Amino acid sequence: MRALTWQGTNRLSVETLPDPELINPRDVIVRVKLSSVCGSDLHLLDGYVPTMHAGDVLGHEFLGEVVEAGSGVTQFSRGDRVIAISILGCGDCQPCQRQEFSCCDNSNPNPTFTQELYGHACTGIFGYSHAFGGYAGSHATYVRVPFADVNLFKVPEGISDEKALFVSDAVPTGYYGADIADIEPGDTVAVWGCGGVGQMAIRSAYLMGAEQVIAIDRFEDRLHLARKQGGAIGLNYTQHDIHDALLSLTGGRGPDRCIDCVGMEAHSEHKLEDVYDRTKQMMRLQTERGAALRQAIHSCRKGGTVSVLGVYAGFMDKFPIGAVVNKALTMKSGQQPGQRYVERIFEHIQAGELDPSYLMTHTASLEDGPQGYAMFKHKSDDCLRVVFAP
Ligand SMILES: [Zn+2]
Ligand SMILES: [Zn+2]
Repeated sequence: MRALTWQGTNRLSVETLPDPELINPRDVIVRVKLSSVCGSDLHLLDGYVPTMHAGDVLGHEFLGEVVEAGSGVTQFSRGDRVIAISILGCGDCQPCQRQEFSCCDNSNPNPTFTQELYGHACTGIFGYSHAFGGYAGSHATYVRVPFADVNLFKVPEGISDEKALFVSDAVPTGYYGADIADIEPGDTVAVWGCGGVGQMAIRSAYLMGAEQVIAIDRFEDRLHLARKQGGAIGLNYTQHDIHDALLSLTGGRGPDRCIDCVGMEAHSEHKLEDVYDRTKQMMRLQTERGAALRQAIHSCRKGGTVSVLGVYAGFMDKFPIGAVVNKALTMKSGQQPGQRYVERIFEHIQAGELDPSYLMTHTASLEDGPQGYAMFKHKSDDCLRVVFAP
C-alpha cells in the first residue's frame, strides 16, 4: 500500500509499505477513503513529540470501508462505511467501563515512556508516536483498527462522507471541550484557537446553551469562519488587547468558560513572554509555549472553568497557579473520549444543527501529502484542513 510517512523533523515522504494484517481477533482492516490532517500532527512534524521513528505513518482522522474483520468482531463486516475514533479504547478496562475511553489502560502496547513521564501509561492513538502505542496512522491505503467494536462507528445513511469524516477527531474533541467546561444557559464562552477543533468547540458551546461565544485567533480567514459558520464574535489578538476586550464584552466579569484549543506552540503578542517561551523551548528547558493557556486563566471570570484541549506534552514555565487558586477556577482537560459522543454528534448532524464539512478547505491525493502538510502548516491559501483521498 501507499502511505505518508514521517522521516524526521519537517520531513515527510510517501512510501510503499506492506498492507496491514489482522493481528488480534478484535481487529478490523479499513480501506481509507478520506483522511484529514490535524493540528496535533504539526507538533510531530515540528519535532516536539519524542519517540517518532523514521517511517512512521501519520494520520488519525479518517473515514473508510471495512475490508476485513477479525473473528472476535461482532458489529462490523465487509463493506460497512465507518469512521474511527482517533484515541483508542479497549471497552473492558475500568476507565473504559466508566466511558473514559481516552484513559484506557489496555490500548497502548508501549506503556513505559508515558508511565515514566506522567506517572501512568497513556492510551494508544493512531499515528501518534511510539509513546502512544506506535499504531500506524490513516494517511495510507489501509489501516488496522484495534478493538474495532469499541472504536469504529457506522456512518448513518444520509450523512455524507465529508460531514462524517470529522466525527473521527475534530468534532468530538471540540464537543468534549465544551462538555467538560460545564456550560450553563446564558454563559459567555471564550475559545482560543480557531483551527478545526476550535471551530467545533465554538459550535458545541452553542449546542450546550452558551449565549455568546468569543473566538480568538490571529488569522482573519479562521476568524471569518468562526463568525460565519460558528456565530461567534471574532477577536484578532494582533489587533486587540484580549483581556480588555473580553472584560468589555462581559460587563467586566470575564468569560464564564474558557477553552484552550491552541496548545504547546502558542504565539504571543506580548514580546517578552514570547521570546522567553521560545528561548526556553528551543533550549529544551520547557516543552510548552503557554501564552494561550496563561491568557485563558488570566481572563476567566472568578469561579469559572478553563477547559484545555490543546496538545501539551511536558512542562510549562510560569504557570499562573496563583490565579487558578485565588480566582477559584476549575481546570479540566483530556484527550477526547469520542466513543461517548458519536451517536449524539450524528444526531446533531442529521438534525441540521451541525455541519463540520466546512473544515475541509482543501483536498489532495495522498501522493501530494508532503505538499498538503506544508500548505496546512503555513496556513497558505486560507487552509484550515487538507483531506487526503488515498
Ligand atoms: Zn487530532
Ligand atoms: Zn480500556
